[in-house]
Amino acid sequence: MTKVIVVGSGISGLTSALRLQQAGASVTVATADNFTDTVSALAAAVWYPTHTAGNPRVADWARRTFDEFMKQAELGVPGVAQRPTRMLLREPAPKPWWAEIPHDFRYAPSGEVPAGYAAEWRFTVPSAEMVPYLGWLSDRFIAAGGVVLRRRLASLLDATAYAPVVVNTTGLAAGVLADDPAVHPARGQVVLVTNPGLTVSVRDEDHPDGMLYVHPRSGDVVLGGTFEPDCHDPVPAEATARAIVERCIRLVPELRGARVLGQFAGLRPARHGGARVEAEDGWLVHNYGHGGAGMTLSWGCADEVTRLALARGHR
Ligand SMILES: Cc1cc2nc3c(=O)[nH]c(=O)nc-3n(C[C@H](O)[C@H](O)[C@H](O)COP(=O)(O)OP(=O)(O)OC[C@H]3O[C@@H](n4cnc5c(N)ncnc54)[C@H](O)[C@@H]3O)c2cc1C
Repeated sequence: MTKVIVVGSGISGLTSALRLQQAGASVTVATADNFTDTVSALAAAVWYPTHTAGNPRVADWARRTFDEFMKQAELGVPGVAQRPTRMLLREPAPKPWWAEIPHDFRYAPSGEVPAGYAAEWRFTVPSAEMVPYLGWLSDRFIAAGGVVLRRRLASLLDATAYAPVVVNTTGLAAGVLADDPAVHPARGQVVLVTNPGLTVSVRDEDHPDGMLYVHPRSGDVVLGGTFEPDCHDPVPAEATARAIVERCIRLVPELRGARVLGQFAGLRPARHGGARVEAEDGWLVHNYGHGGAGMTLSWGCADEVTRLALARGHR
């Protein structure tokens, strides 16, 4: 049986660990942080390839992930839901590269596009409330015999003390651990408010004052946001939070009067050139640098990691 150690317990780590386990590997996860304290736990997390360039490989990851989450939503997996979405466009735009993945992608009739916008895409995608979802992944992994070690490793080579094949899912820390200068943070700030009864996600990614999104969840609504490359500040700014709430209310007036429950900022693990999912040498497989699309690409990347890691284990 191939023995593998996955370094990291965010969405990339836990999906990789589960897929490897399902493929018959004996898997250990080593993680500096509990899953509740990862960037993944902060994600909105709605399937949408934010700031992600398309190519056949990325489209395959995105499609596999979409299909897996939609199946999980139907099965009632904790935190997973199907979410109707409206994407508002300031300029006329052709269909995006990912338009064939949602089953119902369409342009809204022009009479229904809000004033000030040129067009609107409508589609249904999966979303995941990350704390219950990561908990479900972790529980499944442990129930099937997986082991989780709380340990901050000084290097990826140190992980070979536990298993001969290492999967690197360390997010932003991969910049140092894999000596990759392309890795950088893309800061995101969001505000959580009470849900006045919203069920549809709304996005205006090109709002001149910053990103705008309204993502309803079971018990709250995530209001966003920002996308600030190379900003390392993990502390949410009051003025930014106020501006986010104001622009969301202007677009979705039902939010007026919603009570603020909290706010936070997270550092998306971005990478120039896109996510790195590849083997290096005979013992190491990388899976990091997903930026604003770590949930969106997770299961597809985990499938590729599994193939690469098991090929290493059989040498
Ligand atoms: C505000 C915000 C909103 C977002 N919304 C979305 C969204 O709607 N859709 C979407 O797809 N994505 C979204 N994202 C992006 C998404 O959160 C990330 O792409 C994803 O969480 C990256 O997951 P990861 O597992 O690769 O990294 P992380 O979650 O950062 O996990 C890294 C893991 O590596 C471990 N680690 C690091 N160094 C070491 C070490 N030396 N030794 C051992 N372990 C180590 C950490 O402890 C952690 O377990 C959002 C992000 C933010 C901040």
